[in-house]
Amino acid sequence: MVLRLEDKMLDIKDKVLHLLEENDIKPSYQRMQVLEYLMCDDSHPTADTIFKNIHSKSPIISKATVYNTLNLFVKKGLISTMMIDKLEVRYDIVAGEHGHFVCKNCGKVYNFEYKYKNKYPDLEGFDIENEEIVLKGICKHCRR
Ligand SMILES: [Zn+2]
Ligand SMILES: [Zn+2]
Repeated sequence: MVLRLEDKMLDIKDKVLHLLEENDIKPSYQRMQVLEYLMCDDSHPTADTIFKNIHSKSPIISKATVYNTLNLFVKKGLISTMMIDKLEVRYDIVAGEHGHFVCKNCGKVYNFEYKYKNKYPDLEGFDIENEEIVLKGICKHCRR
């Protein structure tokens, strides 16, 4: 799913509830916390970062709950995952088609619009299920 402009006008809690229901996910308090966090942090955080931030505000949440919730969201197609360095999975509130630009200086991951319509003659007859575009370089803020 891609966040639309009109979504930004709604209260975040309403939006969180609505997204969970829309994706057939029972809206428990902890699931709402995880989704709300992701909606406010578009830096493609790791599960650990997500856990630490939520835990600092509500220490009752367990690491397992955060991991299970993230897995559930991915399975339901509500969020997506990406990897920067093969070691850590990053979680992404944007689940629709888009590419990533990783800045080698500040480490920030930027989303950009990308249409998956490439044809690969060498893969004729293959079934492509997943295409990841990761560009690396120096972002415009660091180039200044
Ligand atoms: Zn940068
Ligand atoms: Zn992304």
